[in-house]
Amino acid sequence: MDDDGSPAAARAAAVVGAGPAGLYALAALLRGEAFDRVDVYEAAPAPYGLVRYGVAPDHPKTRNISRVLARGLQQHQVRFLGNVSVGRDVTIDELRAAYDAVVVSTGMLGDRRLGIPGEELEGSLGASEMVAWYTGHPQARPIALPADLSAATVIGAGNVALDIARILVKDAATLRATSMPRHVVDVLAASTLTDVHLVARRGPAQAKFTSPELHELGALEGVDIIVDPDDLVLGPADEEAVATDRHARVTVDVCHEWSQRPATGARRRIHLHFWRRPVRIEGPGQVTAIELEATRSGDRPTLRLPTQLVVRAIGYHGSALPGLPFDEATGTVPSRDGRVVAGDDALPGVYVTGWLRRGPTGVIATNRGDANEVVESVLADVPTLPARRSDPDAVERLLADRDVRVVGWEDWLRLEAHEKAAGDAAGADPIVVHDLKTVIEVIEAAAG
Ligand code: NAP
Repeated sequence: MDDDGSPAAARAAAVVGAGPAGLYALAALLRGEAFDRVDVYEAAPAPYGLVRYGVAPDHPKTRNISRVLARGLQQHQVRFLGNVSVGRDVTIDELRAAYDAVVVSTGMLGDRRLGIPGEELEGSLGASEMVAWYTGHPQARPIALPADLSAATVIGAGNVALDIARILVKDAATLRATSMPRHVVDVLAASTLTDVHLVARRGPAQAKFTSPELHELGALEGVDIIVDPDDLVLGPADEEAVATDRHARVTVDVCHEWSQRPATGARRRIHLHFWRRPVRIEGPGQVTAIELEATRSGDRPTLRLPTQLVVRAIGYHGSALPGLPFDEATGTVPSRDGRVVAGDDALPGVYVTGWLRRGPTGVIATNRGDANEVVESVLADVPTLPARRSDPDAVERLLADRDVRVVGWEDWLRLEAHEKAAGDAAGADPIVVHDLKTVIEVIEAAAG
């Protein structure tokens, strides 16, 4: 009841983006008990964002975090609206009219660019394209590996670079036991690749790889890891990093161990190149080679590596969402304590969380603290939020008028069951259905 005795208006919130950031925000909103209804909008026809379409398929334990993230979506006051692209199917302003609070958590789907000649050649890709393809994102562009592929070059010294290098060299039988769509496994199984070059512009003490992922690389069956001991000579700053930072010490130690390993003559090799940056990708038309300049003064001459595939894994970049301010330089939505701001002004009732708020860093769990902080702002604002002009059902009517095939929670459960059955039949993890047409057919067939 309000102070005047009339029934309190039901409050509704929308979360835009059902990845870890959005679903941690959902959990915090539910704990806050200030909203009678929370609707979760997602552009993909499935929840979990980068847990489903980012975490490498050969990391099923990490992907299992989806079970925790699902809890919020199972609550009676929550609706999942998948296959709805905010900005295309419904505008932010339409959501603002219908909900008291809108929390945007659409993450980052694009890649940073190197800004070097040849980046646009066929065979030069951003990591996000490669990852979307091998995880089965419905919007992924199909990737055909070059028929003459022998060497691939991955730029960057982060975990995404490690994921890509690992997936490229893994044997087909291992990939077939994962959730990877079968057409992707077929392409990778037919790959003639022998060498992957991983290129870091700084040294091992500054690399952003995390230790379990690094150890995993060294344990790959049928793969030699090759490191030039000259790359591991430490300067004073590196010595200091190794002395004070356990992470730096582990990376340097692991690389040392690799540099001493005798090559076994394995079918595939991963070469780590430290202190090098790409300056030119050569064509014509299709990538044929890459030039890597030394980044340490007094260092070696430019290295030219024949390569048919270049993947830049140098960090993700966000894209603007129509109706929201956007900082092109950082790829983020400007905010204060999660409240979206345009210049000096706040956009009342609009919040941002996750990578779109803080940039593309941190592991999945980092988003929990981020979301909790942002939801604290939402809850603090509840008494002063502007009155909404319509209601969430109006958005549902709008989507129906626009012929948007919303994938609801029950639909997702049908798709999930289908993927699990397909995986069980193949002796694999649940196999991701990658194309939207089949997703809808599967859901409709299961609904009867
Ligand atoms: P990241 O960790 O920020 O690494 C980006 C790498 O690209 C850095 O080595 C960076 O070097 C390099 N780089 C940036 N600009 C460059 C340029 N112009 N030329 C050459 N190199 C450049 O990013 P990420 O690998 O995309 O990962 C994003 C986040 O997701 C990270 O927090 C990561 O840990 C997380 N993630 C975790 C896992 C996992 O836990 N298994 C898997 C995937 C992703 P500098 O350091 O010199 O800038």
